Amino acid sequence: MINVSKPNLPDLEKYVKYLKGIWDRNWLTNNGPLVNELELRLKEYLEVPHLLFLGNGTIALQIAIKALELKGEVITTPFSYVATTSSLVWENCKPVFVDIDMQSFNIDPAKIESAITENTTGILATHVFGNPCDIDAIEEIARKHKLKVIYDAAHCFGTKYKGKSVFNYGDISTTSFHATKLFHSVEGGAVFTSSSELLKKMSYLRNFGHNGPEDFEGAGINGKNSEFHAAMGLANLDIVDDILASRKEQSLQYNQILSGLNVKTVNIESGSDFNYAYYPVLFDNEEALLKAIQVLNGHNIMPRRYFYPSLNTLKYLERQDVPISEDISKRVLCLPLYYGLSKEEIDFISRLLLRAQNN
Ligand SMILES: *Cc1c(COP(=O)(O)O)cnc(C)c1O
Repeated sequence: MINVSKPNLPDLEKYVKYLKGIWDRNWLTNNGPLVNELELRLKEYLEVPHLLFLGNGTIALQIAIKALELKGEVITTPFSYVATTSSLVWENCKPVFVDIDMQSFNIDPAKIESAITENTTGILATHVFGNPCDIDAIEEIARKHKLKVIYDAAHCFGTKYKGKSVFNYGDISTTSFHATKLFHSVEGGAVFTSSSELLKKMSYLRNFGHNGPEDFEGAGINGKNSEFHAAMGLANLDIVDDILASRKEQSLQYNQILSGLNVKTVNIESGSDFNYAYYPVLFDNEEALLKAIQVLNGHNIMPRRYFYPSLNTLKYLERQDVPISEDISKRVLCLPLYYGLSKEEIDFISRLLLRAQNN
């Protein structure tokens, strides 16, 4: 079986070495030495001023929303994983969907201003599939209307915008280190900010509001992550350059063979270094997509409909009209892409797609 993604497992001996250290210290969680080491190494690797390692990418979004005190309406994208929207709902904000750009699948900045009302407090945009949003345009709108910006950068490990890690942008950027992501710590996530004030606020929020053993700054939550997860992150960080390089090679191979297929891929934002985190293809219509899935499934190949359905159709929300997102989400399919997926497998998957189209 070939799935859309396969979690990378690092060298077992290396992981066991970290485990031995955990056994020696008997320090399992609560800001332990491996968590600190991972935060330091990520800071260096990504060249970001501050980050906090958290339990997962969803708690990262919630802590970001809380730290920026967003309330009322928050402008967001309907084309993302459900956690982007559900975190807003969970934090009592109303998601206001702005339609996406047909070429990049990211929120369309040209449509943001008309969605701003006196109740709007922020913008939560996703850099979909690791491809940065039009950050300059979004920042300009945010500055003009005094809105806070959060980027859900869950797909963006390794992506750069204008020579810097894309995690540097927005008031806060969040990411996920879930097992299915390009870089992972089994479960995990992070928040990034250049403001030391926000960093401090989020570090209280991460740890129940603790400011010392008996003092509490305010209501917090448990957003911490453990030494075991940090160890997995550290072991994976050693090979992340290889993972990034192989993703690029694999994507270029798909490009080459699929050039004969009647599909489009994503327009990568100019001025960015893309991380090739996913391989999405856009079919002409849903029928062609369903046929492709059927043929692949017949050979035990499991692509995924990321992202389907469009989040404006969630049944717990009032329906809002975003036709491009609804249309794209019906036609887009992510092909298998993971470390270790072989040239032969990519060749086989591509040829099946070509055959499905021509039958
Ligand atoms: C994976 C993902 C999340 C959630 O991250 P978890 O670590 O699984 O909680 C949020 N947003 C996007 C866009 C994602 O892909």
